[in-house]
Amino acid sequence: MNVDERRELWQSLSVVEDWLGGFRKPRASPDFEALAVQSEADSLAAIALAVRACKACRLGEKRSLAVSGQGPDAPLALVVGETPGADEDTAGQLLDKMLLSIGLSRETNCFIASVVKCRPPQNRDPSGDEQEACMPYLRRQIALLRPKAILCIGRVAADAILGSSEGVDRLRGYWREFDGIPVLVSYHPSTVLRDESLKRPAWEDLKAFRAKLSSLS
Ligand code: SF4
Repeated sequence: MNVDERRELWQSLSVVEDWLGGFRKPRASPDFEALAVQSEADSLAAIALAVRACKACRLGEKRSLAVSGQGPDAPLALVVGETPGADEDTAGQLLDKMLLSIGLSRETNCFIASVVKCRPPQNRDPSGDEQEACMPYLRRQIALLRPKAILCIGRVAADAILGSSEGVDRLRGYWREFDGIPVLVSYHPSTVLRDESLKRPAWEDLKAFRAKLSSLS
C-alpha cells in the first residue's frame, strides 16, 4: 500500500469512527511519509539517512544527537538499548567491556541499536508515543541485519521487543523470540553501575547469551 492509499484509508477510518462514536477529539494523523521510509528502507545506510532527517515524533524538533545504530552489516548479535549516546559515558564503556568479555564488539560482530534514535532532552526516558513512533526503524533494522540472537538491555528495550511491561528482574533468565530470533533480557549497564549486586546476574546473562551464540554458529 503506498503513502496516498494509506492516507486515504486513515481518513476513511476516521470518518467511520466519528460516525460510530460521535465527534470525539480528533486523533493526530500519523506521519505517513515517515512511516513509509521507516518500514521500507532497503539498507542500513538508508535508515541512517532517514533518522537524521526524521520528524516523526517531537524528539526530531530539537535533537542533539540522532544515531540509527553502530556495527557491521551482518552481525552475529544485536544489542538493543533505550536511547543513543551511551558510548559517551561510563555506561557505554561498561557495555563495551561486557560485550568484549564474551567476544563481541561493535567493530566486528555486534550491532548496537536503540529503541529511540534521538536522545531525549536531559536524558529523560523516552515516552510511549516516542517509542512507538521510532520502533519501525528498529523493526526494519532487525529485518535487514537478521542477527543470530538479540540481547535487550533494560526495561524499555525489553518492552519494545517483547511487548511486555514486566521488569527486567522477571524477564531475565528465559529465552524468548522476536520474529524467529532468540531474545534474552538483561540489565542496562547504567543500572549495574548504580547497583553492584547486579554484576553477577548480568554476567550470568552474558554467559548464557554467549553459549546461545556458540550453539547457533
Ligand atoms: Fe524520528 Fe525516532 Fe527521532 Fe522520533 S526519535 S524523530 S521517530 S528518529
